[in-house]
Amino acid sequence: MEYAKNILETIGKTPLIKLNKLTKELPCLVLAKYETFNPGNSVKDRMALQMVEDAEDAGILKPGGTIIEGTSGNTGMGLALAAVVKGYKMICVISDKQSKEKIDILKAVGSEVHVCPTDVAPEDPRSYYSTAKRLSNEIPNSWYVNQYDNPSNCKAHFLSTGPEIWEQTEGKVTHFVVGVGTGGTISGVGSYLKMKNPDVKVWGIDTYGSVFKKYHETGIFDKKEIYPYVTEGIGEDILPKNVRFEIIDGFTKVTDKDAAIYTQKLAKEEGMFLGNSAGAAIKGLLQLKDYFTKDDVVVVLFHDHGSRYVGKMFNDDWMKEMGYID
Ligand code: PMP
Repeated sequence: MEYAKNILETIGKTPLIKLNKLTKELPCLVLAKYETFNPGNSVKDRMALQMVEDAEDAGILKPGGTIIEGTSGNTGMGLALAAVVKGYKMICVISDKQSKEKIDILKAVGSEVHVCPTDVAPEDPRSYYSTAKRLSNEIPNSWYVNQYDNPSNCKAHFLSTGPEIWEQTEGKVTHFVVGVGTGGTISGVGSYLKMKNPDVKVWGIDTYGSVFKKYHETGIFDKKEIYPYVTEGIGEDILPKNVRFEIIDGFTKVTDKDAAIYTQKLAKEEGMFLGNSAGAAIKGLLQLKDYFTKDDVVVVLFHDHGSRYVGKMFNDDWMKEMGYID
């Protein structure tokens, strides 16, 4: 018989799928690393399991313990799956701009969810960063994951996502394009691909309202770059340790409107029902078209599933309210 011993064993080994319509103006082959095939429907299952297992090995996470994380949803889902299988309690601290679906999904897999305001500075005691830290100080036998600075985040992608892309493309990948939040995906995959072939170019997708692009180009952490935005999962108002700026060749910023419209286009034109950061990633990739030539193999990573966005980017009333469509 062939079966997985538990749901965690099904993490990874996701397909690489050719894009056909949205990329037809480009001279090169564009392949999507399709992470929604993970059991929690996102790439984050990989790093969640790695962080939990590394914490167990280090003795930081002990039997009967509580896992606490500030998460926009996907990391929480990955951590919750690991917590269910391994017998830990899970608390997710989330910001109020996240979709209701994400919160309900976290509760469905047994997490306690605390919702915090988005429009406060990270150091404000009400922020989701501060709340997660406070809870971890108050609750005995708890572990604050901190995906932003936890090296196991980047390590998971160096050990699994990067090698998979390299093997699936038979070492022919020339460009890697991906949205950047904590930086784990771009840094882990990017550094693996560059280790195999230093000529591989690594492109980060950023949002308006986030500090990454300006910091990469100037070395300046410019607070004027920070303002509320709609796009979910990418961009930051902090510099996480997991963003390894030195392995990134460039950033491009995608507007909230374009990210939303391209999230719909992926579903309607490619049959790819994906999250909002996938829309940003494909639009960003199109913005980078001048860097691609005929023989290039461009891999874009799509982080999560469309079901978490049915109340937003897949709801035309919401799209109209936002002024994104007529
Ligand atoms: N897209 C989505 C939907 C996400 O949840 C995240 C994680 N915040 C990202 C993109 C960015 O990935 P990373 O944190 O590895 O940079």
